[in-house]
Amino acid sequence: MKLIDGKAIATQIKEEIKAEVAAILDADMRGPHLAAILVGDDPASQTYVASKEKASREVGMTSSIYKFSDKVAEKELLEVIAFLNGDPEIDGFIVQLPLPKHIDVDKVICSIDPSKDIDGFHPENVGRLASGMEGFLPATPAGIVELLRRCDIETEGKHCVVLGRSNIVGTPMALLMSRKANPGNATVTLCHSKTANLKEICRSADILIAAIGQQEFVTAEMVKEGAVVIDVGIHRVPSKETKSGYRIVGDVAFDEVSEKCSFITPVPGGVGAMTIVSLLLNTLKAYKGKISTV
Ligand code: NDP
Repeated sequence: MKLIDGKAIATQIKEEIKAEVAAILDADMRGPHLAAILVGDDPASQTYVASKEKASREVGMTSSIYKFSDKVAEKELLEVIAFLNGDPEIDGFIVQLPLPKHIDVDKVICSIDPSKDIDGFHPENVGRLASGMEGFLPATPAGIVELLRRCDIETEGKHCVVLGRSNIVGTPMALLMSRKANPGNATVTLCHSKTANLKEICRSADILIAAIGQQEFVTAEMVKEGAVVIDVGIHRVPSKETKSGYRIVGDVAFDEVSEKCSFITPVPGGVGAMTIVSLLLNTLKAYKGKISTV
């Protein structure tokens, strides 16, 4: 079994981005600028946005956070989005999800300029992905594709089973694996909570991508000998062995599954490490798109 070291690959890509940003700044040009809108005080969202800001700084990009209370009116949020859409100094931005219940998430996503939609959630970018056209890919699936590419994992002609059909991970992941590209060209089965014979389907997977949000759901008996296993899940489990009082596990029962597969991503240090890097790559792409039209 080979461990897919997402952390090491993410560090390497960050160095590549850093060199590119340094070259831009050395040429006395404005550097890439990424912004994030954060609503409320959900700890996971705060941590995630803070990590994005830290990562942008590390690679030399400018980063801004627009913070709002969870009482913010939808109208106010839409006005800020309109402001960011029109600000030529902002190359791309994200609206951190989830949003409070009184805000229409679809309306918010649809109000983002697709050319600044570095999360790849706007229907135009989703449509571009489905049509095989150039656009912004959602960060987590894009990060997984990059891991497969950099680990030279063959996907063509393979049976790829994706567990979970969320708009953020499962559905775009299935589209990416089935598109005419490398990595891609796989035969994809997309599974969800209503899928019958889930275990059998998983056992037939050459590549199994678990994004169902169920702690250690994928066990050894669900995995074919020699399969590639990608674990997207993130769960905090109480632990007396760590300082923090918890440890992080995924959607895959790592210890037993790792005995059986050819490649596996650890949690933490696998897929999660790549998500922010994908966002930085999208920011650079948004920046270059704009620069080339100036
Ligand atoms: P969602 O909760 O939005 O979607 C879960 C999907 O799994 C749904 O499609 C659901 O089916 C399906 N599902 C749930 N239970 C079962 C089951 N028992 N059998 C079959 N299918 C099931 O999750 P996300 O896609 O947002 O996230 C998935 C996991 O990935 C979470 O643990 C999350 O924390 C993690 N995550 C990690 C990221 C990273 O950077 N590493 C980024 C984003 C998420 P149905 O549609 O029928 O309800």
